[in-house]
Amino acid sequence: MEKTQKSTKRLATAKELRQVVADFYIEGHEAKQRGIPVGWMPPMNGLIEIFYAMDLMPVFPENWSPVCAAFGLTDRDFAVSEAMGYSQDLCGYLRNIVGYVYGLLGADGVPLGGLPEPDMVFSMGGGCVPAMKILQLISRRFPQARVFHADLPQVPVEKIRRYHIDYATSEINRVIAFLEETTGRKMDYDRLDETVRLSDQACALWDEIMTFRRHVPTPISAAEIGIMFVMVTRQGTQTAVDFLTKVRDEVRGRAEQGTGMIGEEKLRLFWDNIPLWYNMGIFNYFEKMGGVVVAETYSAAWSIRLSVEKPIEALAVKSLMSYPLVSCVSMQRRKEMVIKACRDYKIDGAILHSNKSCAPITLGQMDIKRALERELGVPSVVIDADHMDARNFSTAQFETRVDAFMEMLLEKKGMR
Ligand code: SF4
Repeated sequence: MEKTQKSTKRLATAKELRQVVADFYIEGHEAKQRGIPVGWMPPMNGLIEIFYAMDLMPVFPENWSPVCAAFGLTDRDFAVSEAMGYSQDLCGYLRNIVGYVYGLLGADGVPLGGLPEPDMVFSMGGGCVPAMKILQLISRRFPQARVFHADLPQVPVEKIRRYHIDYATSEINRVIAFLEETTGRKMDYDRLDETVRLSDQACALWDEIMTFRRHVPTPISAAEIGIMFVMVTRQGTQTAVDFLTKVRDEVRGRAEQGTGMIGEEKLRLFWDNIPLWYNMGIFNYFEKMGGVVVAETYSAAWSIRLSVEKPIEALAVKSLMSYPLVSCVSMQRRKEMVIKACRDYKIDGAILHSNKSCAPITLGQMDIKRALERELGVPSVVIDADHMDARNFSTAQFETRVDAFMEMLLEKKGMR
């Protein structure tokens, strides 16, 4: 298996994603040319809805890293950041984007035209330390850009209190004031209501799509999970709602007809931690023994419904919760989430991706392993890899461990 293999997609709508991705970057470059202010920001917070409500252009440097991985640009980006002294142990998203902004940015021939340069940079806090540092480092590279710092707290989701929400609400209001002053545009609060409504609709569709994965055989697998691109980049727009509606309809149709991803779905698998963006084809590897990755940790970040009657507060709550749901969740909550997912999706075995350059999501995997075995009798296997850096992935080691693991699962189910 090549390290850079792409996943085989079976949903017609997932195949349309390539155009959705291209359209987003084309729109970014056109916005820049037309003088529409461009803001670079972390994903998974309430800034995106504010930007779309004010007809501004949001750009997500963290999300650009998986795109670089898909296009095979990471080797060059890592070479630049490592030459600058950034350690290979640091988050791959951080190393890639630092390498990109000091290297390929603005170069000819970069896929999708690269990223349009920022007029504003937003660091929101609340996520993991690398997530905050990424925006700090970017702001140094673009001294002409206006910088906004919020300091949202890192609070485990179950410990969020009224005063956290009030504080986050005041930070969201401060963002709006900053944007009005920087861009000279006034916030249209009716537009914001509409944007939050569309954002909530996208979340509802996302939940619905994920729920269809409970069907046996599953009508959508992790090989198609690139559809989350619209949740990262288009939340709060009709584009996201339209695309996810099409995905939902296709997935629902397959569920009703009992159409799975492969001929015979023998093993339903769970993937813990971030995918290997440079090798999404790994999700198809399990198929040779009838394995399908039915659910994964990462998709939980988009399952946050917004209370549309209080749009500003809804964005504050989203900003407090969505990133932490993946990267800063308490150990207890993480265990509960994985166990619930494995129960809901009727999982036979879990793949625990021990991610070399993402400590926040990798911490506590041994506890999860024990809890899955104790509470559900679900076995798991640990594979060593990295979400961005192919140098930390060994195909031979992966195949040896996974083959033995799946043979054991088939034996356990009496299917060998
Ligand atoms: S959660 Fe992990 S992958 Fe995401 S920014 Fe933090 S360290 Fe990087």
